[in-house]
Amino acid sequence: MSPAKRHELFARLAAAHPNPRSELVYQTPFELLVAVVLSAQATDVSVNQATTKLYAVANTPQTILALGEEGLKPYIKTIGLYNTKAKNVIALCRRLLDEHGGNVPQDRETLRELPGVGWKTASVVANVAFGQPTIAVDTHIFRIANRTGLAPGNNADTISKQLEKITPPEFVHNAHHWLILHGRYVCKARTPECWRCVIRDLCRYTPKTPRPEPAAADLRGKPIIGKSPAHKRKPRP
Ligand code: SF4
Repeated sequence: MSPAKRHELFARLAAAHPNPRSELVYQTPFELLVAVVLSAQATDVSVNQATTKLYAVANTPQTILALGEEGLKPYIKTIGLYNTKAKNVIALCRRLLDEHGGNVPQDRETLRELPGVGWKTASVVANVAFGQPTIAVDTHIFRIANRTGLAPGNNADTISKQLEKITPPEFVHNAHHWLILHGRYVCKARTPECWRCVIRDLCRYTPKTPRPEPAAADLRGKPIIGKSPAHKRKPRP
């Protein structure tokens, strides 16, 4: 995709959502970090439901570590992979206390070394909590990068680095949010809704999904225009 098209693509996504925000609910970088760790293969809604209850009783490395793995599990058991996530969050709290004075490091390379934190989580936290020009690639962004031709590839971390390189600087900070929102609500996994997509003329994906026919229920009560069934037609003389 040419630089001019890339600029136009982000300008249109930006116009559609002028003030995008993370859908995860958090108050501090630590709350965001834990929420992102919990959000792997889970919806933001399910994470918010769990963290609302958890953060009311424990929202610092000290207090979550004091809960211990078994004490943490009841708060997050509605989230997928909660056994592994409980283990990671406790290890994460311990590491933050032992090596970072209980603070969340701002540097992405340091963040990614923490338990349960990979390149994607580190990129989200660096961007959302600390305003850095990083672009985390989740399943939605991976799909859009490939379908549109923006940054095709097989590996999420490679696509992340490529997007950071080619996205016009003025759009880098919010690119992650715009692409996620577009993937969640328009460029959906099973059937992209191309007929109402603001970037369809810039996207290389074919064939574009056409506007669906009105549902049969919508036609009920309306006169049917067309030929009558063959068995009811009069024979020609
Ligand atoms: S045109 Fe279709 S495939 Fe391309 S970005 Fe839009 S919804 Fe996705």
